[in-house]
Amino acid sequence: MSGRVIVVGLGPGNPAQITPQVSRAVNLATDIIGYFPYLKRIIPKKGVRFHPSDNRFESERAKHALDLAEAGSIVLIVSSGDPGVFAMAAALFEVLEKNSLKWDNINIEILPGITAMMAAAARVGAPLGHDFCAINLSDNLKPWSIIEKRIRSAVDADFAIAFYNPRSISRPEGFQKTLRLLKLYCQSDRPVVFAKAVSTKEEKIMTVPISKARPDMADMRTIVIVGSSQTRIIQQNGREWIYTPRSYLS
Ligand code: SAH
Repeated sequence: MSGRVIVVGLGPGNPAQITPQVSRAVNLATDIIGYFPYLKRIIPKKGVRFHPSDNRFESERAKHALDLAEAGSIVLIVSSGDPGVFAMAAALFEVLEKNSLKWDNINIEILPGITAMMAAAARVGAPLGHDFCAINLSDNLKPWSIIEKRIRSAVDADFAIAFYNPRSISRPEGFQKTLRLLKLYCQSDRPVVFAKAVSTKEEKIMTVPISKARPDMADMRTIVIVGSSQTRIIQQNGREWIYTPRSYLS
């Protein structure tokens, strides 16, 4: 009998931001697959098999999950944030598309989670309150020329932008180039939010005008939100809020 594959998002880090639907799925699973730091966020239960793997093994992880499900297991694949945002849900469908007949009987479900940009936006106000887009700055799976085109187009269309995967040890230059482009095209006081490890004990959030933004302000645990031309900063109750109004003054 074929089993199930449930792809879930564990949210940005705080257990209180895991949805009840995902918690129920965690309790159902016989096998849990994912990048090892994400598996550490799940309390082990007797009889449940954990299959941690290293980063960048998404296809292998997806195949492994489908094979276990074919043998009758209820397999949970975990992502951080939302599984459909630069994460395992698309990786699973890439593998399925190539072998559509092999795993045709498996029941697949994708359960959403709170993605990093939503968690970060809520901490500072509502910077994504009007039209926005999300760009993954990793060029592991797409050429830098596409990323650069998207950055230019996003600024040209005046979206607020959430940048995922801004910078890693193996990719130090992309974010530097990104900031160079943004400084060229945006007004110098455009707010930029660097939100690191949102909702965890290591959370660190900093907002600077684009003119003061530096590459070393971001790492792999940071999401960077760049406001649109309308994004503003207001003071209330002794603190700063950043928001983008819902109307657009042209
Ligand atoms: N599926 C995830 C994104 C995976 S890509 C989601 O929906 O959030 C990994 C990138 O997400 C990181 O490089 C970082 O840019 C961002 N990210 C994930 N968790 C984060 C957190 N708690 N705080 C800030 N950024 C985070």
